[in-house]
Parts: sequence; C-alpha cells; structure tokens
Amino acid sequence: MQIIDGKQTAADVRLEVKQEVEALRIRTGKIPGLAILIVGENPASKIYVRSKVKSCEEVGIYGINDELPADISESALLERIAYWNAREDIDGILVQLPLPPHIDEKKVIDAIELTKDVDGFKPENLGLLFLGDKDSLKSCTPLGVLELLKRYRIPIAGKNAVIVGRSNIVGKPMAGLLITESATVTVCNSHTKNLGAVTAGADILVAAMGKAKFIKGDMVKEGAVVIDVGINRGAEGLCGDVDFAEVAPKTSFITPVPGGVGPMTVAMLMKNTLHAFRINKKII
Ligand code: NDP
Repeated sequence: MQIIDGKQTAADVRLEVKQEVEALRIRTGKIPGLAILIVGENPASKIYVRSKVKSCEEVGIYGINDELPADISESALLERIAYWNAREDIDGILVQLPLPPHIDEKKVIDAIELTKDVDGFKPENLGLLFLGDKDSLKSCTPLGVLELLKRYRIPIAGKNAVIVGRSNIVGKPMAGLLITESATVTVCNSHTKNLGAVTAGADILVAAMGKAKFIKGDMVKEGAVVIDVGINRGAEGLCGDVDFAEVAPKTSFITPVPGGVGPMTVAMLMKNTLHAFRINKKII
C-alpha cells in the first residue's frame, strides 16, 4: 500500500506554476490575476478563501479577496462580477460557494466570463470537458484527482473506475475526465442499489459523497486505488468518506484526509488561473 501524498504533489504543482508565472512575467510584463468573491461570513468558506489567496501570493499570481456582505442583493453581486469581467488584469473569477439562499447560484455562475471561469463550473466548460477538449477550464477538484493519478503513474485506460457522488462540481466532471482517459466509468448516487457490490468492482474508486468514513473495507477490492475526496468535519477533526484504517491495508494506493485531494484542489486553481491568463492574453 502506498499513500498518495497530496500535500507534496500540490507543492510540486505550485512550484511549477510559480516558475511559469515568473517566465511569463519576464516575457510579457504581465502576471495572472484572480478575483475571489466571498459573500457573508461562512467560517469554512473563509478558511478556503484564505488558503487560495495565500497560494496566489506564493506562486506570484495577483490575488484579490473581494469580501461582500451577507445581505448583498443578487443584482449587486452580478454587477460585481461584471466589474471583474471587465478588468483586464483579472484572468480568473471565483465565487466561493455556498451562496446565501436569496442568491441564485446558477445566475451567478452564468455571469462569469467563459474564459475567466477558473472553477470550470459554467455549462459550456463542463460540456467541453465531456467532449474531451484539452484547452477548456476544468473543475479543480476532479482535475486534482487526475493529476494525482498521473503523477503516481497509475494506469487509467481499461480500468473500472467507480465514482460515488454525482455532483456538478465533483462527480460529473470526474466521470468526464476518466471517460476521456479511457476508463470504464460507473457513477453512483444515493439511489444506487447494493453500493458495496458496485464499489467492490472498482480498480479505481473515487469517493465524493460527503459521508464520514462511509466506505468500509468490505466495499473495496484487494489492490484497488482509492481516492477520497470527502471532507467531513467532526469532533475528531477532518475525515474523509473512506474509513481509512479499514480500507488502506487492502489498497495499492490511497489518499489520506487531510493531505490528499484537498491541497490539490487549490494547486489546480493556480494552474487554471495561469491557463486562463494564457487564454485571455493570447499567449501561446
Ligand atoms: P454533494 O452533496 O453535492 O454530492 C454528494 C453526492 O453523493 C450526491 O450525488 C449524492 O447522491 C451522493 N451520495 C450521498 N450519499 C450517498 C450514498 N449513501 N450512496 C451513494 N451516493 C451517495 O457533495 P459534493 O460533490 O459537493 O462534495 C462531496 C464531498 O467532497 C464532500 O465531503 C465535500 O466536502 C468534498 N469536497 C472536497 C473538495 C476537496 O477539495 N477535497 C472539493 C469539493 C468537495 P444524490 O445525488 O442522489 O443526492
């Protein structure tokens, strides 16, 4: 069993981004810019935003934290996005989710310029991902999972991949990416019958359900690769969707929580912002 070190891999990715940002700064005189919009005072969201801004500083991206009041109207938020869309020095716009209930998430995502959608949440970008387009902006968490599999040289083509969870930000784009990599993909949801039998057929199992330690040893095949996307906050701190103590001994590779997929998400955001910079500034 080998533990996949997401923290180290994320640091490697950030260093590569940093070097490329610096090289492009010397060549063009410009650096990528990322605007991170946060509405209200959600403590978990604030932690995520802080780590994103810190990563920007580390890699040489101009990162702005645009803090907006919890009672901002939907139209005022849309105007704010229009402002960042128009800013030439801003290549990526990210609206930290969840938003307060009086704001329509879909309208907000629709308002972001396609080439600045560094979260890859817009329908066009998700569609392009499913078409196997190489250059579109793709959702950071699934992209981070794929990066881990590739950097650990884990074969994907021809493998049975099972994803537990079908959300628009994790499960669905994960499926699209693994289909493009020629895996045979099964996507499970809360209606899936006999989930344990389905997951036990997985060569690559991606758990993205948001249920603490739900995946047990008997649900996993001997030698499987297990990627735990889940982040659950409990009395003992953070844990994933996988019961690590039970499952890890059966696997060939497994990601821990924390220190697995989580740090990769932010590293891929940096990579996406650099990619958006290249698109927006037409740099080849
Ligand atoms: P959602 O709540 O949007 O989706 C959860 C999915 O899991 C749904 O499709 C749901 O099915 C499915 N599900 C729930 N229970 C079961 C079950 N018993 N059997 C089968 N399927 C089930 O969550 P997200 O996709 O946004 O996030 C998933 C997890 O990943 C969370 O813990 C989240 O915190 C974490 N996360 C981690 C990130 C990272 O950077 N590491 C980034 C984003 C998320 P149905 O559709 O039928 O309801």
